[in-house]
Amino acid sequence: MNKIIGATMATVIVAGALILTYLDYTGTEYVCDKCGQQYKPQPVQWTTGMHLPTRRHMKCPHCGNWGWHKRVRVPDERDFI
Ligand SMILES: [Zn+2]
Repeated sequence: MNKIIGATMATVIVAGALILTYLDYTGTEYVCDKCGQQYKPQPVQWTTGMHLPTRRHMKCPHCGNWGWHKRVRVPDERDFI
């Protein structure tokens, strides 16, 4: 019985983490240090990039600059948190 409870808890935690990650991705964009353009990164780049709470190390799609780009929140119709 404990195994079933454990498996259910693990599933809930993983699903919750995925939902939060998805909401975090859809509700944020990044601003390039060099050219100042705001952009939404590719999901692959976003998930694999090194990051801090407010910055993420990625390549700018506008000028090609690699840097720690600042995170900004964008309004989203699904943004209910
Ligand atoms: Zn740039």
